[in-house]
Amino acid sequence: MNNIAVVGSINLDTTIRTENFPKPGETIHSKEVFTNGGGKGANQAIAAARNGGRVSFIGAVGNDEGGKALVDLLEQDGINTSGIDHLDNARTGSAYVTVDDNGENSIVIYGGANQEVTNEHILDNHQLISTSDYVIAQLETNLSSIEKSFEIAQKESVLTILNPAPAPEFLPEQIVQATDILVPNEIELETISGIKIADEEDLLAAAEKIHELGVRVLIVTLGNKGSFYSISGEKTGVVPAFKVNAVDTTAAGDTFIGAFASKLSHDLKNIEEAIKYGNKAASLTVQRYGAQPAIPYDSEFTI
Ligand code: ADP
Repeated sequence: MNNIAVVGSINLDTTIRTENFPKPGETIHSKEVFTNGGGKGANQAIAAARNGGRVSFIGAVGNDEGGKALVDLLEQDGINTSGIDHLDNARTGSAYVTVDDNGENSIVIYGGANQEVTNEHILDNHQLISTSDYVIAQLETNLSSIEKSFEIAQKESVLTILNPAPAPEFLPEQIVQATDILVPNEIELETISGIKIADEEDLLAAAEKIHELGVRVLIVTLGNKGSFYSISGEKTGVVPAFKVNAVDTTAAGDTFIGAFASKLSHDLKNIEEAIKYGNKAASLTVQRYGAQPAIPYDSEFTI
């Protein structure tokens, strides 16, 4: 069983279902509104826990009802929440997700407590990182907390996985150099590499660029096309997606990352198998609405 520390965001998601996205200045009716647990960090932690990982979480919520409820949700999935700070001076993070009839989404997030994770808090919880096989981070928390976490991981030979989302304008060198496995989607990869991704040749060119920055493994999620991977100087390939009818792609990438990390061996030898597993788990997520409720348990499928 892989031990996984997630350093990341916890959000209260409000999902709004509409026929189409509203244009600027337009007012439209919603078919349905609901709230769920979300945040890329929390989603990835839950995906890992539901798929066999032993997971601990480092992050922050506000000292409010929403924060308590979200931490309870993590505990219901068996996640160790001792590394979550309850802050008096910040609101719990939130996200507003619009999903149209094609299953596409657009998301506005308010960072709140997620942006207030201090280096002291990371250091106080360093054991959760140093006793893990993998530490996973995204970019919905402040960058200094990620930098500090990856610094601890590197010293202890814990492999670091970075999901560079939301797509950054600028990724600090210290974080990139301390990243073992980078997992962007195509749009995030375009932003980071500066290469427009249209085909596999572009993916290979972008992979070269990412490897030159010091990242050994690149995995790019390609939506309904599956996932591309490249291990520097070793091998590359595409693992196809499972053919399903997607209704809401929220948390597809998060499910992929958590499920993948829960299956990946430290020597990376089973990388294709772990990617196939991540693709399968994500293919179930896209057939359901919402973020956390949509994330499957390994007992729901075989591959
Ligand atoms: P993100 O949610 O970060 O934008 P992607 O859209 O690339 O990420 O999706 C992540 C993973 O989810 C893909 O690699 C794939 O395995 C799965 N997936 C996404 N969309 C579909 C789909 N329409 N059909 C089947 N699998 C999908």
